[in-house]
Amino acid sequence: MSYIKIQDVYKKYKVGDTVVVANNGISFSIEKGEFVVILGPSGAGKSTILNILGGMESCDSGEIIVDELAISTFNNKQLTKYRRDDVGFVFQFYNLVQNLTAKENVELATRITKNALDVDQTLELVGLDHRKDNFPSQLSGGEQQRVSIARAVAKNPKLLLCDEPTGALDYNTGKQVLQTLQDTCRKMGTTVIVITHNSAIAQMADRVIKINDAKVRSVEVNKNPIPIE
Ligand code: ADP
Ligand code: ADP
Repeated sequence: MSYIKIQDVYKKYKVGDTVVVANNGISFSIEKGEFVVILGPSGAGKSTILNILGGMESCDSGEIIVDELAISTFNNKQLTKYRRDDVGFVFQFYNLVQNLTAKENVELATRITKNALDVDQTLELVGLDHRKDNFPSQLSGGEQQRVSIARAVAKNPKLLLCDEPTGALDYNTGKQVLQTLQDTCRKMGTTVIVITHNSAIAQMADRVIKINDAKVRSVEVNKNPIPIE
């Protein structure tokens, strides 16, 4: 059995009288330690399935298994624990606490979880050792994103979910951030899933899941992932 299994997930949103089907029978599997890219245009349903996988949203029907945990059957208390201990999130706009330093932002996350890693070591892993006493406003966009990666990784999660992590960055900075995510995946053995609408990113992934119009259109397993240009 795969480490992550998503089977027949349906999710619709009602806005007034309009119904939007965001996930129309989504199925895919992911193996432990893979660096995965979910690729597709804006509005395809990528964030919806990622949020469902991360226990941030419920689905209308379908099955979600993560490391033998049946997330789709969890009650709210179980979901809270799952989000806190098992999942790390990285967003487009970093979401750092502005009046805490880089190190304090990471520490904050480790305080509420059981399996936390050493904060200094985690900052070193993302290459921010020399910046740990800086506040977010004193850091570049790429550095802030690396703090948010450290914050997520320090929880030592089963999976790291990243929603357009390079969306607010220029090309070269985005590349470095993706490299940091991939290094984390390789060094820590964390399963990492990155959402993007940028096909250039796909070539560095172990697995590429293409989603379009609320459905999975293809899954490619890449035996020889290559760095992006
Ligand atoms: P993507 O991440 O691929 O851009 P999303 O999963 O965010 O796509 O959205 C899929 C569809 O569901 C879109 O049409 C979007 O407008 C709609 N949608 C997403 N979240 C909500 C919401 N909370 N309320 C209403 N519609 C939503
Ligand atoms: P859009 O059409 O939405 O502007 P772009 O292709 O310009 O999309 O890229 C969107 C974001 O993705 C950019 O801000 C950039 O930082 C990031 N990006 C683009 N290409 C790459 C790449 N090959 N590697 C890493 N990040 C990239």
